[in-house]
Parts: sequence; C-alpha cells; structure tokens
Amino acid sequence: MATKTVELVVSPREPHFVGDGFRVHNFIPSAYRLDMQRMDPVIMMDYNSRYYFEPSEIPKGVGVHPHRGFETVTIAYKGKVEHHDSGGGGGIIGEGDVQWMTAASGVLHKEFHEKEWSKKGGDFQMVQLWINLPAKDKMSTPKYQSIENAAMSRYKLENNSGEIEIIAGEYEGLKGSASTFTPLHLFNAKLKKGATANFSFPNNYNTALLVIEGDIKVNSTEEAPTDHFVLMANDGEVFTIEATNDAIVLILSGEPINEPIAAHGPFVMNSKQELMQAFDDFNKGKFGYLED
Ligand code: MN
Repeated sequence: MATKTVELVVSPREPHFVGDGFRVHNFIPSAYRLDMQRMDPVIMMDYNSRYYFEPSEIPKGVGVHPHRGFETVTIAYKGKVEHHDSGGGGGIIGEGDVQWMTAASGVLHKEFHEKEWSKKGGDFQMVQLWINLPAKDKMSTPKYQSIENAAMSRYKLENNSGEIEIIAGEYEGLKGSASTFTPLHLFNAKLKKGATANFSFPNNYNTALLVIEGDIKVNSTEEAPTDHFVLMANDGEVFTIEATNDAIVLILSGEPINEPIAAHGPFVMNSKQELMQAFDDFNKGKFGYLED
C-alpha cells in the first residue's frame, strides 16, 4: 500500500468567541484549501485550544439556536459542557466524553459550561465538528448520543506506549460505539514520547489530524506542534504518527459524501431552495421549542 502523505500543516488562526463560552480557532471551512468539500463529510471544525475560564456564577456558552442537515460532535478534553435540545436530548459531558447530536430535520439547542464547573472555572479545551449528512438522511429524525469516555474502545499499543481511543469507526478490529450515517473514523491517539502508531484508510477518505497535546512527526518527516492541524493528501492509504513529546492527536477520516453543499449559518443543505425552506420552517416555529 502507498503512503498517505502530508498535504498541509495548518497553524491555528486568531481565535474568536462563539457566544461567550467557546474561544475557538476555526480550521474548517477556511478560504484556503480547507473549504467544506475538502474534508467532506467533516464540514466544520472549531477548536477551543486550552484556555482558562475565570469562575462564573452565570455559565458561559451559546444560547438557543437551530441546526438542520448535519450532526454536531463535541469532544471534551478539558472542562464540562451542558447541552439541551428541543428533541429532549441533552446531558453533561466532561473530560474525555463526546456528545453526538444529529440535528437532521431540525433542532434547537443550547450549549453552556456546566453550572458547577463554571462556578469553579478552569482550563477548557474542546473540539466541535459538523459532520454532513447525505441528502437522503438530512430530513431524518433528530437524535442524540452521549458517549462516555469509560465506554470507549481502546487499542493498547506495544510496550505500554499509548492507546488509540475509538470514538467512531474501527481501529485494528475494535469498533467505536458512535453510530454514523456514512463511514467515518474518529480516534484519539494518546502516545507517550517516542511511541509510534500506524493508520490505514482508503485513499479517497478525507483525512486529517489535530494535535491536541504535545508534538508529533508524521511519516517520520513532517513536524506538527500542539494546536496544529494536518491535512493528509488523498494519495495513499497508510501513514505513521510518532510522538516527539507525550501527545494526544485527534484523527479524522471519512468517506466523502460528494453531494452539493449549500450552507448558511446553522443550516447545511444541498440546494439554495432547501436553505430557504430551512429558514422558513425555523421562522414558523417548526423546529420545536426550547426555553432560554
Ligand atoms: Mn450549535
């Protein structure tokens, strides 16, 4: 099998706030190469790099807003988030946990720092992904998956040198518990200094890495420090990650859906007409009700 090479190493852009609770670097979509199609089905990535939030009696976050046509996946590395949606889904995710919300035909939701965590404050670090849905599933029923860290499958690397935590998809025969609409692998590689791990995905799968902690080398040559994003080329299947310091790396690889993308604000559909319909349905209250 051919080597999947590094196409681009991207440094984090200037952060901006989403609501008052998420200080994020946006990696996808960006004007340069990483548009919504390039990492399809991963159409958005916001990364709250490690950031200290002062204690606050009033939890910080993002108030009620709609989504339609895709899934939001929130991966918590530090801190705690509380989520509620108009479909009755909701819960608290803490360090290591993942919240997988399928907005599909439409939900209202709100995302805030968890109340007790907010009172104490602390380091906060999260990734939010938007995973696109194929046209045939965009108007399916919303659902919610809470994936606790303790329940995740783990592949132990040789000599106790680390582990691959499987959120979705499969690594060395171990399956992640998240259900996905299209083939998607989502892992956390936790590697001790000097450890290496090998990955293999079909060459048409759009593949990227985000260095959450530490420093890595990809294919023995390309260096990527903390908070950097590595876009892999679609030129081969296999690649290697080596931790040059203790590292945590988010690994994403998905089969492209290859359908037209029409996106505006919180809606991602296939055509302008469907977008207008989404705004119309939202304005008519068809996304349900959620208290502020
Ligand atoms: Mn949202």
